Amino acid sequence: MAGAQVFHRVFQSELAGMATEPFDSWHVDVRQLFAAAELEVANLDLGETHAFGVGAVTHGLMWMIEHWPAQVSGALSLVDQDKYGSSNGQRYAFMRPGDTGQMKVAAIKNRLETAHPQLTITDHPTDLNSYCANRGFDRPLHRVIAGLDSAEARRHVALKLPERTVNMWTAGERTGAGRYLPAHGGACLACDYLEKVDTQLDEVAELFQQTSIRPDIIRSLLDSGRGLSVEEAATIASRWGTPADKFVGQPLRSVMPALCATGRLQMPNNPEVVDVPFAFASLFAGISGFMMLLKDLKGDDPSEGWTQHIFKRPTPLLLRALHTRSECVCCSTLSDLATET
Ligand SMILES: [Zn+2]
Repeated sequence: MAGAQVFHRVFQSELAGMATEPFDSWHVDVRQLFAAAELEVANLDLGETHAFGVGAVTHGLMWMIEHWPAQVSGALSLVDQDKYGSSNGQRYAFMRPGDTGQMKVAAIKNRLETAHPQLTITDHPTDLNSYCANRGFDRPLHRVIAGLDSAEARRHVALKLPERTVNMWTAGERTGAGRYLPAHGGACLACDYLEKVDTQLDEVAELFQQTSIRPDIIRSLLDSGRGLSVEEAATIASRWGTPADKFVGQPLRSVMPALCATGRLQMPNNPEVVDVPFAFASLFAGISGFMMLLKDLKGDDPSEGWTQHIFKRPTPLLLRALHTRSECVCCSTLSDLATET
């Protein structure tokens, strides 16, 4: 919230036409926004929960758990192969300067263990596919929290057919979260991220369009998780018109969300619109994901999604039901499995 306020002050004149209000005059009962008036502060049992992707939006959600004023228990697995970089820290709720170079999963585990000794936490510095393969595909995932950076990664989660999923996202000036219970007739995560059948673009081709880095190099960057070279960083920087030095040594998957959580603003004395980081958008996504998690812990309400323009006043009108889609391969697989048993 402080980040949002700083942003509002710094860009006050640029935001003039957007009818924003100062954040110090802004307060809301989030239960009204999420149609959850019955929620009260009480002990939380996370049951079996797997967090896939412990980046900036997941940090927002974990920060809410860390500060939850009652007991939190259950078994939480944190899965992410990235370390904190030396840039982009403004998006991470309560990241400390000394965290740079540390595994994100290890840092969050330490913080949550201190706050909630009854919560059993395991940290897994690996990618979600390796984690699921090691765990065994015959063991269903009860609940997944997805804080990932691409539609492709979310499809990878959906294909594991989790029983319940909480998803969070940021995209330019929009942010949001969803809750998916496919077994109860609603959408599954894949319904919202269906493969585009009208284009031939895979993840590598999309990243080529976004970065201008050669596709074979993108493939090796994604597979190895290695940091970007000076030359590769310069290629992305010239494509986006930003300084290159902050990308050098960062894995491609860490660089893309930094570019995604930006928007374009018209600056004074400059005829061109420029890219501006929306540091607080990730925290808003994390808070909306936390509300979805609370509702998911409460019962079996049908799938729903919530979205928000980050410069506009939040409203409960943006909460909507998510219905299963007939062309979704995961939903048809789930209904086949249900018929067999
Ligand atoms: Zn589906």
